[in-house]
This record gives sequence, structure tokens and C-alpha cells, in this order.
Amino acid sequence: MQLEENKSLKSLNTFGIDAFAKYFVEINTIADAQTFFAEKKFDPEKKLILGGGSNLLFTKNYDGLVVKNSIEGIEITKEDDNHVWLKAKAGTIWHQLVLYAVANNWGGIENLSLIPGLCGAAPMQNIGAYGVELKDVFISLEALNLESNQIQIFNHADCEFGYRESVFKNKFKNQFLIVSITLKLNKKPVYNISYGAIQTTLEHNGIMEPTVKSISDAVIQIRSSKLPNPAELGNAGSFFKNPEIPKQQYEQLQLQYPLLPSYKGSIPNHVKIPAGWLIEQCGWKGKQIGHTGSHKYQALVLVNYGNATGDEIYKLAQDIIASVKEKFGVELTPEVNLV
Ligand SMILES: Cc1cc2nc3c(=O)[nH]c(=O)nc-3n(C[C@H](O)[C@H](O)[C@H](O)COP(=O)(O)OP(=O)(O)OC[C@H]3O[C@@H](n4cnc5c(N)ncnc54)[C@H](O)[C@@H]3O)c2cc1C
Repeated sequence: MQLEENKSLKSLNTFGIDAFAKYFVEINTIADAQTFFAEKKFDPEKKLILGGGSNLLFTKNYDGLVVKNSIEGIEITKEDDNHVWLKAKAGTIWHQLVLYAVANNWGGIENLSLIPGLCGAAPMQNIGAYGVELKDVFISLEALNLESNQIQIFNHADCEFGYRESVFKNKFKNQFLIVSITLKLNKKPVYNISYGAIQTTLEHNGIMEPTVKSISDAVIQIRSSKLPNPAELGNAGSFFKNPEIPKQQYEQLQLQYPLLPSYKGSIPNHVKIPAGWLIEQCGWKGKQIGHTGSHKYQALVLVNYGNATGDEIYKLAQDIIASVKEKFGVELTPEVNLV
């Protein structure tokens, strides 16, 4: 555990932004973390926990301490005939946990295959894809309180999960270092293949009886064909959340835009509309501005064509928000954490 100064974060965020951290430390064990934070020499307001850097936009250099979480490992903590309780340390790569579950035919997270990032960040925004969210399998997590330096347990209700939301993204932002998560997976899996192109991809692959593995493979196939690979083109996945608007507002908008798509929302009397559709209608899809732009196949994904600064991408995001607001009266909010 070595404290570094003026550390480049370029290779540590999937946007590939060349921001610098004033201080940087990589933590490999909980004990390391507790020893380090016991010294209390850092301004508590200026700490940032970094996982895989796949849901962050550094808009400027970070004038504080960046803590890279590399506490790794997976263990079974409990098991019965029907379920298995898996505890993954926060620095474990999320997709590795998925592959471990898939290899054992344990169901629950196969639809979340290939989501970049580490397990510790998964509860942050209640990661979700293809009709499944982390909250569907989540039991609890352990987190180090950065003020008291003690480990606290958060159960499902404590996390206040919502659509791409949790307490850790809001009221407890940067106050806890999540060190492990525990999930309950199903030994007799129930499949969820109705969402997106899973069903058609399975059919295309000649799969009549889905398995945890064939669903995971299908999701990997779909994602690989649809989303830009951050290793080739800097991005952080969906930049904005899909807005949830009151039903009444939706009906009004539909009079003007009969093709406006909608999905079931998480808020009563609201519907969710795809942010990508709104952005595309405003003419942003595939548009390149300087070193940044909206992706040519996925309007919702903002990309770094090579040398973009975080501020440039932030400004593009602001322009997109303003044009969607002007055309549809709908406010987009970033899903990506702005730093
Ligand atoms: C190509 C692509 C596709 C994506 N697809 C999806 C998708 O389908 N669904 C989805 O939900 N997301 C998706 N994402 C977003 C991202 O992968 C997830 O949000 C992921 O969980 C972020 O993990 P990370 O380790 O990279 O977190 P980081 O980007 O490092 O951090 C994200 C936030 O969590 C905080 N944080 C990280 N680790 C900890 C910790 N241990 N304790 C406390 N706070 C912590 C950070 O401070 C930051 O605020 C996608 C991203 C990309 C690049």
C-alpha cells in the first residue's frame, strides 16, 4: 500500500480521460484500508473510491485522494438444496462473478453478463440489464465507514435501491467503502428471457431449452454487437438514465409524437421513456463535436474519440440535456457519476 502523488487516471477510467489525482492509493485488504484511514490525514470531503472506472466522468483533475479498491475474492457463505449465498469482495470483476455463477449453473445474474466494473460498485447504482437488477438477488453488503473506520452491514432495505439508484449514490456518497456484497442465487434457475433480443438470439443460436449458460452467452453476444468496447472507444455505457414522466405528460407528448416509445416505470402513474430515442430525435446520434460525440449506433452512449477532456464531454452532455428539454420538456439526468 503506497501513497502516490499526481497520479494519472487515464488507464483507470473507461472514458480514457487524462485526469490526475492529487493523491492515490490502492487497497488490497480491509485491514490495509483501516490502517490507512486511521491516519486521518486526508480531508474527509475529498475522497473518491474507484472501482473499474466504468461509470465515472472526470470533468477535471481530482484535488483529493483516490482510493482504488482491489480487495478480491469469491466465497460461498451458505447453501441449501435450492439456493447458494455468494460473497464477492468488492475488487472482484463483476463479469468474473457472473462467469463463476454460470459455470455452476446458478441462476440470477446471467442477464447481467458483461457489465463492466467491479462488484463493489454494483450496488452503487443497482446495476441492471435485460429486465434484471442487482436488487433481485442482493442480500447484504459490508462497507467501511470512512468516518468511524468501522465495518457496517447494509441489508436490502438499508440500501434503498431504485432505478440506477441507492443510498450510496446519494446521501452516503463517498462516505463508505463497500468491501463485499452477498447475493443469493438459485440452484433451480427461473429464466427471464422476455426482455430485449434474448429470446430471438437464443432461437437464432438454435437453443430450444435455455440454460444459465446459453442466456449468458446470448447476452454477451447482444452486448458485444451493440455497445462500443471501451478498450477501443472510450465511453461509460449509457450516459443518461431513461426518464420517468407522469402518464399525463406522456399522453400529451404522444399527441405530438405518436411514435414515442414507453415502458413500465418504477414510479406509480409514471412511464419510462428511452433517453436514446429522445436524443436521436434531437439529431445527436452519430454527431461528432471536437473529440467527443454521441455514438453512431447508440445515441445514449457518449464517446471519447481519442483526446477529449472530461469537460468537453460534460459540455456535450449539457447541450444534449438542453435540447431534449427544449423539444420535449423532459429533463435528462446523468447515470454516469460526474467528478
Ligand atoms: C460499455 C459499458 C456498458 C455498461 N452497461 C451497463 C449496464 O448494462 N447496466 C448498468 O447498470 N451499468 C452499465 N454500465 C455502467 C458500469 O459498468 C456500472 O455502473 C458498474 O457497476 C461500474 O463499476 P465500476 O467498478 O467501474 O465503478 P466506478 O466507475 O469505478 O465507480 C462508480 C461509482 O461507484 C463508486 N464506487 C465504486 N466502487 C465503490 C466501492 N467499493 N465502495 C463505494 N463506492 C464505490 C465510485 O466512487 C463512483 O461514484 C456500463 C458501462 C460501460 C462502459
